[in-house]
Order: sequence, then structure tokens, then C-alpha cells
Amino acid sequence: MDPKRLVRDRRHALKTPRLEIDLNKIRHNSAAISTMLGLRGISLTGVTKVMMGEPAVARMMLEGGARFIGDSRLENIQRMIHGGIRADYILIRSPMLSQVDEVVSLTHMSFNSEISVIRALSEAALDQNRCHKILLMVELGDLREGVLPKDLAGLVKQTIGLKGVRLAGIGTNLACLSGVMPVQERMVFFSNLVKKVSKRFSLNLELISGGNSANYTWLTQNYDSGCINNLRMGEMIFTGCNILTGEPVPCLYQDTIRLVGEVIEFKIKDSKPKGPVVKNAFGQRPKFENQGRMARAILGLGRQDVNANGLTPLDDVSIIGACSDHLVLDTHKFHPPIGHEFKFSLSYGALLSAMTSPYVKKVFLARPLKY
Ligand SMILES: *Cc1c(COP(=O)(O)O)cnc(C)c1O
Repeated sequence: MDPKRLVRDRRHALKTPRLEIDLNKIRHNSAAISTMLGLRGISLTGVTKVMMGEPAVARMMLEGGARFIGDSRLENIQRMIHGGIRADYILIRSPMLSQVDEVVSLTHMSFNSEISVIRALSEAALDQNRCHKILLMVELGDLREGVLPKDLAGLVKQTIGLKGVRLAGIGTNLACLSGVMPVQERMVFFSNLVKKVSKRFSLNLELISGGNSANYTWLTQNYDSGCINNLRMGEMIFTGCNILTGEPVPCLYQDTIRLVGEVIEFKIKDSKPKGPVVKNAFGQRPKFENQGRMARAILGLGRQDVNANGLTPLDDVSIIGACSDHLVLDTHKFHPPIGHEFKFSLSYGALLSAMTSPYVKKVFLARPLKY
């Protein structure tokens, strides 16, 4: 090949490692999910935290029909606002006391479970001459955030007595920490609790937010979703999978986001390490079977870029292991040239790590969809 041409190609090649984020597919998944929820009278809060509040992604969620944008971090919400995304923003993690002023000025609503924080939000809202909406989180068994069900009425009473804040919702979250499954019994319990407390205090709640992507199975298996009128989803939009079973959800894309790495070395080497084996750089003692000589490619991609445990190759290759900066593949019969790119799909954990790594470029694809 003409050497000049090679140089030009190299200069024009996309850099790696990179995440390729297909905006059309994200919009499609958001639309399919919000339509499915809509048929059940449930609105969608598109959760952007794993995408670090990327404005282009929020725009796709909103175009796809998400009613709210939820994020756990103010920095992300700020980024979307600066990116020109007009939306009703919800802070879905309890505010820190040190942040209440920004929470009031940047968001429409925040999730809460501590009266001292709600009091501080009330003061901040009065200072700013605003009204901040409060959603109270209830603990249903996953043992992460939320008041105990028996303490909900007390917190409601204290909250509605404060000026500058308005009690606008009650919510719950399962599965994230302990993996507790949202089953109908828990959801009915939650609905009844909300109904009881609403009646007792004559509340007019706009948001009964019953869970996250892990609620998909519950939703499809139970016709009665009680008084739940909102779900918050990020993972299912990005992975297109039922996150409890790992199975693809019909009509959703599973390949909205891919990670691309590039071959920096390819050699035929032994498959079994030589010499006494102690521990590797990460304190592990990996075991390797002797499979004879092996086609081994090294990608310029490592643990500083991604949690490699959550990668699945999209080509016929196997992952041997990863260090800080090297990912080693068995490429079987294929002998890739240097510079060859391999693609991977990502688990939620891998996506989280790659999105937050400064070394990984984020490339947005927005080709017209083919039907
Ligand atoms: C992250 C988060 C969600 C969204 O979870 P997914 O698994 O991405 O659907 C919903 N609610 C809360 C409180 C969260 O922290």
C-alpha cells in the first residue's frame, strides 16, 4: 500500500479506546419503554447517571417520551442544563446537607429520607423564593435508602408542616444494593401504604415512583400496578435487557453502546505461563491450562479504562485477562493485524467504569435508522 495513504488513514482513524454510543437506538429504546409504561398509566423517568449526564443522551430520552430526567448527581444535572436540555430534573439521591442551595436552584424535585435535609431544603427554598418538591423514599427490604414503612406517616407530617417545600411524591427502590426482587406482594404493600398515608393527610401526590429497571418483570407479570404512576429507568434503556434475568427485552436494541479497543501486539505464544507463579499485579493467582501455542493479541485497553470483567467480545475471541493498561485476547484462528479493532458489549458495571474513565473517548453515532 502507498505509505502516504497509510499515514492519512491513520490520522483519520477514530481513536481508541472509545465507547460508541448509538443515539438513535437510545431514543428507540426510550420510546418503546415509555409507550409500554404509558399503556399502564406509568410515566418514565429517564435516568442519566451512568452516562454522566450526557446532554445528547438526555435529549434522546426526552424525545423518546421520558417525562422526567433523573440523576443522582448535581454535576450531571448541571451539565444537562448547560447543554441546553430543558426538562423537569429530579435528584434521585438524597441531597447532601452541603448541597441544598444548588439542589433547590437546579432541580424540580429531590428524593429524601432525612428530616434534617428536608428542613435545610425548606430554608434554602425560602431564601431563593422558590418551592422545592419533595419525594419521600420508603424502605421495602433492599436496605438502601428510605424511611421504614412505620415511620412514613411521621415524616409526612413533619414535611407538610414546612414552608418552601411541597410533598409531591412517595417512592421506593429495590434490587440495587441487596438484589431484593420487586415482587407483587412488595409492590401491593407499597401501594397500600401510599394510599393509606395519602388519605390520612389528604395528600395530592403527583408522583408515586415504584422502582427502577428491575421492576420490568413485575410489570409484565402483574396486570395491577396499584397506584404506582412512575418508574425510573436507565439500565434497561442502555442494555435493552431484563436486568434480573439478563434476557433481551423484545423490541429493544441490546447494542446501544459498544467499547472498541485496538491491537497493539499480536504474537503466537504459549498458553501456560513459564516459571513459578505467585500473584499478579492485582493480588490474584490466575490458573491457566496448557492449550499449546495460542494466538494472543494485546489491546491498548485495561483496568484504567474499564472493569474488564463486564466485557463480552462481539467477535470470536476470548478474554485471557486484563492489567491496568493491557487486555489480552485469545484470537483463536484469526491473526489480526496491528491496529485491528475489536468490539465488546458492556455490563452495567463495565459501562459505568468506561463512562467515568477519562481515557475512554465517547463517540456518538446518529445514523438514520434502517427499518
Ligand atoms: C440508579 C437509580 C435508578 C435507575 O436504576 P437503573 O437500574 O439504571 O434503572 C433508579 N432509582 C434510583 C434511586 C437510582 O439510584
